Amino acid sequence: MRLMKPLQELFPFLTQQPRRVVVTMHQKPDPDAMGSSLGLAHFLRKLGHEVTVISPTNWADFLKWMPGCKQVIDYEAAKERADAVLDQAEWLFCLDFNTFSRTRHMAAKLQSMSCVKVLVDHHEEPQTAAFTYGISVIPMSSTAELIYQFIVDSGHGNLIDIATAECLYAGVMADTGSFRFSVTSSSVHEMVAHLKKTGFDHSRVHEQIYDNFLENRLRFIGHVLSNRMEVLYEYNTAIIAVPKSDILKYNIRTGDTEGLVNYPLSILGIKLAALVIDRDEERKWSFRSKGDFDCNSFARKYFEGGGHFNAAGGRSSEGVDENVRKFKLALKETASQLQ
Ligand code: 5GP
Ligand code: MN
Repeated sequence: MRLMKPLQELFPFLTQQPRRVVVTMHQKPDPDAMGSSLGLAHFLRKLGHEVTVISPTNWADFLKWMPGCKQVIDYEAAKERADAVLDQAEWLFCLDFNTFSRTRHMAAKLQSMSCVKVLVDHHEEPQTAAFTYGISVIPMSSTAELIYQFIVDSGHGNLIDIATAECLYAGVMADTGSFRFSVTSSSVHEMVAHLKKTGFDHSRVHEQIYDNFLENRLRFIGHVLSNRMEVLYEYNTAIIAVPKSDILKYNIRTGDTEGLVNYPLSILGIKLAALVIDRDEERKWSFRSKGDFDCNSFARKYFEGGGHFNAAGGRSSEGVDENVRKFKLALKETASQLQ
């Protein structure tokens, strides 16, 4: 396997001449994907580069407050414009994903590009052969922290302003579960201390991300926790299966189901929480675990997915009921790891 050159080798080029840069992220971006991408974009613009941020798909309303988010191109909604920008790109930064397939309809385009490609990610089993430069650190809290280190290590930590700090903080806050997951290292807190010195308002960031939903979303959560959650105590597991009819009835949009999978983990003894949602074109899985259950391997083996040890996703083209059946069979096979 070809190795990516370390990011440090890119540092001299950062200040050499202005480049046309595209920053992109995984589909249906979460706060870490969008926050790290916008944070990097703010930084590179300060160095004089021409930067465009492209998301493979649309994104949740709770990301729209982020400085620079209004200028992000939605690839699905503006493919021609995005392709024209990609054709001109000299550098392509790919943030918070490990394989091009995570960029949905953009994957073929990204794969075909011959410019300098840079990967910055923290997911298991990255497609390193496709990138010229890059860093992929699995035990890292977030891509936002990797971007922070990139900025500081390149000698430009002084360029981090309030806008950059807000974006990077949102990413690391979300991926650490507000600084509670085990990935929250001392370096995360040191980073936050540095970001705070810009004077940004961290409680506003929490509010924008977590207290920014409509009434229907809370009623939807109440409904699915009451009626769609099954607790399988023999496997220390809980599963929530959401049919299309619930999505339509409660007018659920991109981002409204973010965090739903975490609720069952608050039940005493539950080690694995799973959520399957009937999306238009596929059934989307989310897995979360506490302790030593490996969600990444489970998602890879059974549901065409992957991610991190304690948080992973997957998909299936089969119906919800069939997926639940498959999940229960998979649990049986994996039972010893859930005791
Ligand atoms: P979520 O459940 O929030 O969609 O995803 C949980 C974690 O797993 C996130 O870090 C996400 O980027 C990753 N993830 C979600 N779906 C997939 C997938 O299909 N493949 C891989 N490799 N990672 C995924
Ligand atoms: Mn992330």
